[in-house]
Amino acid sequence: MSLTVVGSIAFDAVRTPFGERERMLGGAAVHFALAASFFDEVRVVGPVGDDFGEDEYAVLRDRGVVTDDIEQVAGGKTFFWSGVYSENLNARETLETELNVFEAFEPKLSDASRDCDVLFLANIVPDLQIGVREQCDKARFVALDSMDLWMNIARDSLDRAIRMVDCVILNDEELEQLTGRPNVLTAAREVLSWGPAAVVAKLGKYGAALVTADGFFALPAFPMETVVDPTGAGDSFAGGFVGYVAAHPGEEIAHGLLTRAMAYGTAIASYNVQEFGTERVARLTPDEIAGRVADLERMTRFEDMPVALRG
Ligand code: AMP
Repeated sequence: MSLTVVGSIAFDAVRTPFGERERMLGGAAVHFALAASFFDEVRVVGPVGDDFGEDEYAVLRDRGVVTDDIEQVAGGKTFFWSGVYSENLNARETLETELNVFEAFEPKLSDASRDCDVLFLANIVPDLQIGVREQCDKARFVALDSMDLWMNIARDSLDRAIRMVDCVILNDEELEQLTGRPNVLTAAREVLSWGPAAVVAKLGKYGAALVTADGFFALPAFPMETVVDPTGAGDSFAGGFVGYVAAHPGEEIAHGLLTRAMAYGTAIASYNVQEFGTERVARLTPDEIAGRVADLERMTRFEDMPVALRG
């Protein structure tokens, strides 16, 4: 079994109230792959430039991520993103996005990447997502992320891409923008009516909600006293969530499986935000993930003590 992800591989410059990094490894596909590597063999598809060196490859390879389909473009520069977070980390402003090697990127998948059992289309141009989805025609579970930019400038392609996947993972505001619906539940139900069997609404520091034809499920974010850098939290969540599905090849992909997947996504995302960039997840252990999932279960379970309600 294997899991393929296509998306950005980046250098990020980030400033948060806790400090800053001028150039750290990032990108949606990188954060996703590190998180998903705890569940399955992960293959990353995406371009990098000459500036992407052995140290960056090592972060991925040390977690067993297969980097054969990372295309190193001679003379090119790796995708660069910079952002700054507000005091309470609620808001993020993008300062710069340099597409660089992404501008002319055409995903070329090896046979092994194409044969994947599970596929994640991280946030990139929807036409590229469609191209990769068409190549991976054996995948039994395909999830997609996107952003407001593509809703604004490539709406038709994004709609087509969404109709080709099993699960859409977006933040609440993106879901509301996509559908024109005023809240997460109605927005998610609208997306379900277009074809996907599941919608995950990422709610930032409030957690995430899952909507399928069989119901609604929500988990709070793991309570943290200090969040150092939220960059990549959404992609780490997706890596844990989609990775958990990939780790259960014999199981029907139903509501129950996805609720458990949500716990793993939540646990790994909570580690991601404890340090800058990939720093914490790169040295995360399976025991630490299991511990946080168990803590989450304890925190969210309650015993009903029937009471005579006054009429
Ligand atoms: P997240 O915090 O989960 O939204 O993901 C942040 C990651 O997405 C960063 O590591 C960036 O390198 C990457 N990123 C930011 N903007 C874009 C974009 N327009 N396309 C693809 N990846 C992006």
